[in-house]
Amino acid sequence: RNIVVAAFVGCILVFLSQTCYGSATTDRIYLKSLPLQGMLSFDNTTAAAKDWGQLRSLKPAAVVYPTAVEDIATILQAVARSESELTVAARGLGHSINGQAQAHNGIVIEMTAMKGIRVMPLGDLGSLHVPYVEAMGGDLWIDVLKASLEFGLAPRSWTDYLYLTIGGTLSNAGVSGQAFRHGPEVSNVLQLEVVTGRGELVVCSPISHSDLFFAILGGLGQFGIITKARIVLEKAPQRVRWMRAIYTDFATFRRDQELLIRSSSGSPPFDYVEGFVVVNDANPINGWGSVPFAPGDISEAMIPPQAGNIMYCLEVTKAYSAADLHNLDQVVENMLSRLGFHRGLLFKTDTSYLKFLNRLHDVEMQLSAKGLWDQIPHPWLNLFVPAASINCFDRLVLKQLKTWDFSGPILVYPLNKSKWDRRLSAAVPEGPEEVFYIVAFLRNKLPDTLGGPPLSVMLEENENILRICEPLHCKQYMPHNLDRQQWRHHFGSKWDLFVHNKQLFDPCGILSPGQNIFSRRQ
Ligand code: FAD
Repeated sequence: RNIVVAAFVGCILVFLSQTCYGSATTDRIYLKSLPLQGMLSFDNTTAAAKDWGQLRSLKPAAVVYPTAVEDIATILQAVARSESELTVAARGLGHSINGQAQAHNGIVIEMTAMKGIRVMPLGDLGSLHVPYVEAMGGDLWIDVLKASLEFGLAPRSWTDYLYLTIGGTLSNAGVSGQAFRHGPEVSNVLQLEVVTGRGELVVCSPISHSDLFFAILGGLGQFGIITKARIVLEKAPQRVRWMRAIYTDFATFRRDQELLIRSSSGSPPFDYVEGFVVVNDANPINGWGSVPFAPGDISEAMIPPQAGNIMYCLEVTKAYSAADLHNLDQVVENMLSRLGFHRGLLFKTDTSYLKFLNRLHDVEMQLSAKGLWDQIPHPWLNLFVPAASINCFDRLVLKQLKTWDFSGPILVYPLNKSKWDRRLSAAVPEGPEEVFYIVAFLRNKLPDTLGGPPLSVMLEENENILRICEPLHCKQYMPHNLDRQQWRHHFGSKWDLFVHNKQLFDPCGILSPGQNIFSRRQ
């Protein structure tokens, strides 16, 4: 009899709230009734509407700080079953550019509320004794690195910046100068624990629930929330020799970069290969002033007379331990002797592996103190450019940059497509070519007091680049502002599977609405 009465009262409450208060209130009542171990807040929603880009800010109705995986499952089950229009976004640190981790009037789950890192230095039977680290979706890569280094181990593939979450980067790809060799971060995952859009907790790997495993990696948060990931570890180098060398000619720069990432040449000469555009002025952000490790080590007199408006800088590292020191100089010299950079424009420094991987942290501290880090908008544009188009891209885009008031670094470096499993959701340029480039325009919108173009101009310039890119078969990395047709085009031959996976794992379309790919279905 009690159950009947409770059900009756419940129905009345829902009826009253729907008729008298509207659906937002109904959602609130519904959410408050959920048995969560963590916290649910309807008040502090501003932070969840902010991201690195600061181009979009959409407040959620509620923010959840989970303390257990069950909290995430409870939320997703409840939202999937409800007749409301609620959506759910997992949020790492909101380092997205365009609201990808936001959920307008929906629920944001703050993944950093749940942490826990476990290093398995000898692996286990499941990993075939390959060492791995298991981290929560909201753990940061910097913490994963520090925990692994305690065992003399480290993940193999990285991003340039380590204050990013495991779940956030694995939802994109995670690319840096090691990716040519080890693939992106998504290619270095042994197992995932995921709560799907249906609210089901699933452990998946390349051999168990492999459809979910590959869907999630690079899946832009569309199919489930990553609660744990197992990541391959290798023996960590102790130190690295870190080198930068300037080129005036794109063809030589490109030839050398591709030579250094060629997989057929056995063990690659360098462990890390990146590069960036150098504007031919002293600017410490993207001019030649940004190249040396000690700022005074370069002057205008050292710039070759044939240099145009734009130069290029190769950036490489050679890892070593104490035992390699006796012939390190010779080994590095042999490698460099094959390359065509300007001999007077080579800069070197030696540092610990941790300091090298965490190199952006010092920059973050300096810029943050000046109010120029997460305090300003970042209209970034990241592209994958097929190798066949990169000369054209250089001519039509990079060489025109001098005419812009450009603020921020521009990275250009090649990747090997064979290191990206075809089954990953992550979209890379299609076609038979092995090499494609990442070109990252990491632009900062400076405060008006410091000059620089208005945000609207910067966004228009990004659109211009995208227009130029269309016939060059480029793809956006961490894409945004796409309509349905453009998403179809973006995923290309992977689109049908992407849609199929959505129906399978998140049939109500509740997850990661900020990506703007699918809409909520009741
Ligand atoms: P968020 O921005 O919070 O989330 C990103 C997306 O993933 C959202 O759609 C969100 O809903 C979803 N998501 C978040 N957590 C989960 C989860 N646990 N499960 C499922 N979905 C989830 N990227 C590179 O590849 N290489 C780089 O070198 C690099 N350098 C960077 C440097 C800086 C300074 C910054 C700000 C970003 C850089 N990035 C780089 C981009 C970075 O990979 C993305 O911003 C990425 O989204 C990670 O940020 P986040 O952890 O804050 O995720």
